Amino acid sequence: MEEQRQWRAIAMLFASIALFFTLIGGTPARQAASPNLSSLPLFGRVIGIDPGHGGYDGGAVSVTGRAEKEYNFEISQRLGAAVEALGGTVVYTREADIALIDPANTPGYKKRKELDNRISILQAAKVDAVVSIHMNNFRPQRSIRGAQAFYKAESASGAALAQAIYGCLSQIEEARPRKPSIGDYYILNSADAAILMECGFLSNKEDERLLADGDYQTRLASALARGLARYFELSP
Ligand SMILES: [Zn+2]
Repeated sequence: MEEQRQWRAIAMLFASIALFFTLIGGTPARQAASPNLSSLPLFGRVIGIDPGHGGYDGGAVSVTGRAEKEYNFEISQRLGAAVEALGGTVVYTREADIALIDPANTPGYKKRKELDNRISILQAAKVDAVVSIHMNNFRPQRSIRGAQAFYKAESASGAALAQAIYGCLSQIEEARPRKPSIGDYYILNSADAAILMECGFLSNKEDERLLADGDYQTRLASALARGLARYFELSP
C-alpha cells in the first residue's frame, strides 16, 4: 500500500516535470510569433473590400461576354489574401455571387439601397480603408485601357490612398495605370480613406485577357495590398 503511494508520487513528479518543460518550451515559441505578426505593415488595420455588383446585377459585360461581377469577385478574393499576408484584417461586403437586396421585394431605387447595405457593413466594422473593386468599360473606344483609382472630391485620405496605390501599380507594366482621379461614386461614402478601383477595361481585348488571368490577378492584388501598406506608412 505504502509502496503503491510512493510510486504514484514519483509518477506525479515526472508528469509535473514534463508539464513544466512543455510550458517552458511552448512559451518562447508563442512570444516569437507575436512580434513577427505585429511587424507586418497592415497589422491592426481593418480593410474593407467591396467586390462590385453581384447577383442580379452583373455590371459591365466583357468583350468575351463575361460579367464584370465575376472579375470583381476573383480579384477581391486575391486582394483579401494579399492583405491578410501583410497582417491586415479583411471585411468583405459580399463573399458569394449575391446582391445585398432582394430585387423582387425592394421598391424604389434598388441600386442605392444595395449600396447602402454595403456601406452599413463597412461602417459597422469600423474599417480603416475601403477598396471597391470594379472593371471599367468604354465601348465607343475599345483601345482605351489601364487601371485607375477614383476617390471622393473632398477626401485627402482617399486621394493619398489612390496615389499610394498608383505608385505600386506603376511597378506592373501591363497594368498601365492611369493617374488617380476624383470620382462621384456612392460607395466612397463608406470610409474616409476609400477608393473605387477600376482594374482595367473589359471593353479592351488585352486588358480583358489580363484581368481573366489568375497570375495577373494575383500580381494586381498584391500591388493593391502594397499600396494600402504604403498609405498607412505615410499617413499613420
Ligand atoms: Zn462596376
